[in-house]
Amino acid sequence: MAKARAKSPRSAKAAKKRANKKAAKTSQRARPGRAAKPGKSAKRAKSAKRPHAAKPAKAMKRAAVAKAALPSKGAGVAAKTKPAAPVKAPAAPSAAASYKPLKAPKHRGIGLEAASPFEMRVNLAKDLPETDVQTALDSGDMGFLHSFTTGSTVDGPGVRVVVWTTGCQWRCRYCHNPDTWTMRNGYPVSVAQAAEELRKYTQGLKVMSGGVTVSGGEPLMQHRFVLKLLKAAKGMGVHTTIETNGYLGDRLTDADFDSIDLVMLGLKKWDPEGHMELTGQKIGPTLALARRLAARKRPIWVRFVLVPNLTDDLDDIKKIAEFAAGLGVVERVEVLPFHQMGRFKWKELGLRYEMADVQPPSAALVERVRGAFQAAGLTAY
Ligand code: SF4
Repeated sequence: MAKARAKSPRSAKAAKKRANKKAAKTSQRARPGRAAKPGKSAKRAKSAKRPHAAKPAKAMKRAAVAKAALPSKGAGVAAKTKPAAPVKAPAAPSAAASYKPLKAPKHRGIGLEAASPFEMRVNLAKDLPETDVQTALDSGDMGFLHSFTTGSTVDGPGVRVVVWTTGCQWRCRYCHNPDTWTMRNGYPVSVAQAAEELRKYTQGLKVMSGGVTVSGGEPLMQHRFVLKLLKAAKGMGVHTTIETNGYLGDRLTDADFDSIDLVMLGLKKWDPEGHMELTGQKIGPTLALARRLAARKRPIWVRFVLVPNLTDDLDDIKKIAEFAAGLGVVERVEVLPFHQMGRFKWKELGLRYEMADVQPPSAALVERVRGAFQAAGLTAY
């Protein structure tokens, strides 16, 4: 009878429930270095926003053209285990189309590659002991990465491999990638592994006048790792860029600037109180980094996220423009229209999202803001 009961639909259902529960426990015990299985919310997450903000429309068009170029076959090893299940990009095919994913690097059987940087990833280093995290940060021999993407045409000159780091000390109200705020959401990856993966793309990057861009999150949260990777890239003859909020610029020595061919610097708001309200941090360190770069004639691309009723005050924008123009090293300004692609991440992470009712800026407003930068003598897109 017991056997008969075991075969009944009711008992079978109970057995299935027990099996699922066991699998969930196993997942939670994932060892350091292995991808912890994503939580239910992460599994629901399909894709979304990329670190920082939207990309200029012209750049999007360029992306479609540049389907090109980087080697794909043999460029990496297919992942045996999927880290996080994210994957569907809701509404922004144009942005996702800016990335041409290639084979992923293999990290302990886990793929680092993201189909686009709009995937949400969480808890990938959740179980790594704190001492290991600290050792990694101190030595720079290991870093924490959200993902690698390849074939980007919107993250610096030419076609780029982009290394998305985790960890950010800012809390921008419009952030499209709050999953990159927490370092432990990223994969632990050795600098040797990251450099080796990059090496596979060097020929293609050179042909496409591209290079490697380290973005985030905030890359300078892991400045030693980032510098080691950029130095390795320079050794391969690859152009290097970091995209940063600049807040930790004092972690970079003047000699470190030699490893960085271009700094893409986010300038978000001029008014100090407004900046604090928008990002949770002071603007001073960002401006200090900009001045240091200018003093050493290092090129900067400024990125400005345009959010209606939040960053669209023209007087404030003119002050940013005057500052940027006065540096004498700003090669271009990119006005990035706000969008809602990262909204689902806030929800999945249980964060309060204040921008739900904010619409993207109109084309006319974007043009006005570009005009404000151009009036200061800058090239703006
Ligand atoms: S600086 Fe940090 S919080 Fe702000 S947009 Fe970038 S990743 Fe998000």
